[in-house]
Amino acid sequence: MTGRLLDPTPPLRPGEVKSHAKAGQSRSGPGGVEFVKMASECDAVNLGQGFPDFPPPDFAVEAFQHALSSDFMLNQYTRAFGYPPLTKILASFFGKLLGQEIDPLKNVLVTVGAYGALFTAFQALVEEGDEVIIIEPFFDCYEPMTLMAGGHPVFVTLKPDPTRDGELDSSSNWQLDPTELASKFTSHTKALILNTPNNPVGKVFSKAELELVASLCQQHDVICIADEVYQWLVYDGYQHVSIASLPGMWERTLTIGSAGKTFSATGWKVGWVLGPDSLVKHLRTVHQNSIYHCPTQGQAAVAQSFEHEQLHFGQPSSYFARFPQAMQRTRDHMIRSLQSVGLKPVVPQGSYFFVADISDFKSKMPDLPGDVDEPYDRRFVKWMIKTKGLVAIPVSTFYSVPHRKIFDHYIRFCFVKDESTLQAMDEKLQKWKKELRP
Ligand code: PMP
Repeated sequence: MTGRLLDPTPPLRPGEVKSHAKAGQSRSGPGGVEFVKMASECDAVNLGQGFPDFPPPDFAVEAFQHALSSDFMLNQYTRAFGYPPLTKILASFFGKLLGQEIDPLKNVLVTVGAYGALFTAFQALVEEGDEVIIIEPFFDCYEPMTLMAGGHPVFVTLKPDPTRDGELDSSSNWQLDPTELASKFTSHTKALILNTPNNPVGKVFSKAELELVASLCQQHDVICIADEVYQWLVYDGYQHVSIASLPGMWERTLTIGSAGKTFSATGWKVGWVLGPDSLVKHLRTVHQNSIYHCPTQGQAAVAQSFEHEQLHFGQPSSYFARFPQAMQRTRDHMIRSLQSVGLKPVVPQGSYFFVADISDFKSKMPDLPGDVDEPYDRRFVKWMIKTKGLVAIPVSTFYSVPHRKIFDHYIRFCFVKDESTLQAMDEKLQKWKKELRP
């Protein structure tokens, strides 16, 4: 496998520009930048963007304050591949979960958020002409990151199973067709990117689904990039399983995490990659020659936050247990409220997000203003912002261009929102409900 990988010290050809660098320009970004701008102009309630509008837990805030005011050397550079106490705690914490002896020096790389981890992984491992399998709907940077590295994205779509009338849909009904998935693997496949729990649907891949992915990766000698940033956000008793913990997968998996999602502090931008040295060494080369180093104080704060969590982990006092419980209540509140105006939420098993089916609106009012080519969900979101004062993100953004029109009847909501946002949402929905009365 490593024979096909980037050499740790690749020769640079002056003036070489990847022809694919402009790919993906039409996307509106993970937070749907253009919709967020419209929202502020229309004084709308923002249920679109993926970040908490409440503070991180006290222990994490205190850890950051401590990092600012304790050792003055935390103002300086630290080890390029990660502040040693952070790599140490990540190695011991995740080593137990993945059933691996993780070496903090060789198997851990600290990055600028999970974004940094993904970018470094794509740049390090994907070469011109390599194919990367992406499961749709997908976190929208995967496609441009593949293209920027010179790779070729190959899409496989989660198929929602029809539900019976009146029944709430669940993200567990969105499934991969095993035969279709197998057909996507070729001799050019370098990597598969797996996001569980998934953004935007909130699907938590079952062990059986992961075993299928794992066996195909092993059969075809393919690397798995596992984006597990929402791993602690699982609901209704569902279990997150890391694909790297399955037999034979550690050697070919990069597991990506985010302190932003873990401790409700997305602005800290601390992320990490865990994996075998044979893969991580290539990421270190990219990291060392691009970012070089991530802010030390943020890393120190994350290290201390993990140390705090380790004392509580597995007990009711654990933040990783309490936070999803609180978010499940917010999720249920939001789902109930949105149903009252005829939106049909798909209950997520995990993550910050759920999607809602708007096909009833599409049949009742198909001619919303907008360009002829514009997918319906984009026109619907603009209409909802302007006339109802609520922001969501069109789900077609999370699909490849050929599939956008097929999946233009869903919009994404983010539910890591505080009481006052929920209240503001309910007020807007009450008004909307009154307008529905004949
Ligand atoms: N992966 C997924 C699936 C995400 O949703 C996000 C953030 N929206 C990221 C990665 C990036 O995380 P970070 O903020 O740590 O860069």
